[in-house]
Amino acid sequence: MLDLSLLSGSHTLKFMNNFDYIRQAGSRNGARAAAEIVKQLKAELPSYLTVKTEPFDFTCAEVSTASFEAVEPYRKSYPAAGYRHSGSTPAEGITAPLVYAEYGDPISLTRVKGAVALLSIPVSGGLYRRLQKAGALAFISTAGSPLDGGQDRFPQSRNLYKKPMGGQAGGPDASQPLPDIPGLILHYKDVLEILNRGVTTCHLVLRQETLSKTGTNIFVTVPGTDPDLAEGLCVSAHYDSVPQGKGAYDNLSGTGIVYELALAFAKNPPRRPMTFIWFDGEELGLLGSRAFCQSHRKELGNCRFAYNVDLAGQLIGGTVLGVTAGPEVEAAMNLYGREAGLGMSTKRQVWSSDSNSFAALGIPAVTMDRDGFGMHTRFDTLDLISPWALERDEKLSGFILDRLASSTVFPFDRAMPVEFAEKLRR
Ligand SMILES: [Zn+2]
Repeated sequence: MLDLSLLSGSHTLKFMNNFDYIRQAGSRNGARAAAEIVKQLKAELPSYLTVKTEPFDFTCAEVSTASFEAVEPYRKSYPAAGYRHSGSTPAEGITAPLVYAEYGDPISLTRVKGAVALLSIPVSGGLYRRLQKAGALAFISTAGSPLDGGQDRFPQSRNLYKKPMGGQAGGPDASQPLPDIPGLILHYKDVLEILNRGVTTCHLVLRQETLSKTGTNIFVTVPGTDPDLAEGLCVSAHYDSVPQGKGAYDNLSGTGIVYELALAFAKNPPRRPMTFIWFDGEELGLLGSRAFCQSHRKELGNCRFAYNVDLAGQLIGGTVLGVTAGPEVEAAMNLYGREAGLGMSTKRQVWSSDSNSFAALGIPAVTMDRDGFGMHTRFDTLDLISPWALERDEKLSGFILDRLASSTVFPFDRAMPVEFAEKLRR
């Protein structure tokens, strides 16, 4: 049995204080974070365990130029950012009519052919595809709020997920390849001015290049004590952050919780094997977990349950277990939560985190998420992280994982409902 008193939120926070910087996958600080996690694990884990690192290659786009200018009925430049992976304009840019297409609804999209579509919402896979089909030359989305001032008045480049991520974006229709269309982001207050002043023609430039990068996954397996129980669990969190902020809540907290759990289970070895994994590149589209599930596909045949932590550690919030599996798994989570006496609720759906990479292999998967503030912004900092919140989620996670890792017969099958399997298939 796991001694839950081994789990300490203040110990976790001490670990987290080593990572007070932005940790983008493939960046120098991303590699620095990976080296630090390995160093801390080696310092605190018993020496019989081997910490492994596994690099993976990926390509990512970098925006070199993003500019927007109103041409008719007045000339004015506005600060712009770009959608990475959307497409590029020619070096001299394009000049075209500007059409306000609101949410990109089917009626508004009938007017965007040969024009730049201005939208009030962010664009991802499904809407991008509909813009392509509607014959838009380019698109612009609106970011920020009328409350923003100072540095928040400048939009930030973001990734365009052309493929569905966790079933959130609409699925691509691969039958009919269409030309890429460049996408810009303008600030809410500027879009308001552009619409109020009735801009009809605009000039925009978006230039981006594709770069090859390397990310790093880190993992350690705590062997089970019962030689008859070969089937085990995977426990994971991503340690990379978005470029906008230090990602204390998303997901240094998850990194720390999984670190704390690994140390505790290493001291109290479970009956079944447990592999603890720290993924890179989640923010770029679950890159690390996809690479891991690919390269370990064979061993994962023995994985009965995948538990992931993404978004945690804030005091003001509530804990949700996102279950990508059948109702019997959700029922088991609720049972364990009640037994542990720690507040939580469940949602059964396809999440948008690394648990999906396991679920896509048919492994029942859960992401623990503590609802909170400031994800993907510069406000996601360590000062909102609470040792109490870390510890309560460590105890809830430890309780659930210990029940499963101690079971003689697993309480649910290794199965995935058809509707989730469909959504997860790319
Ligand atoms: Zn995250």
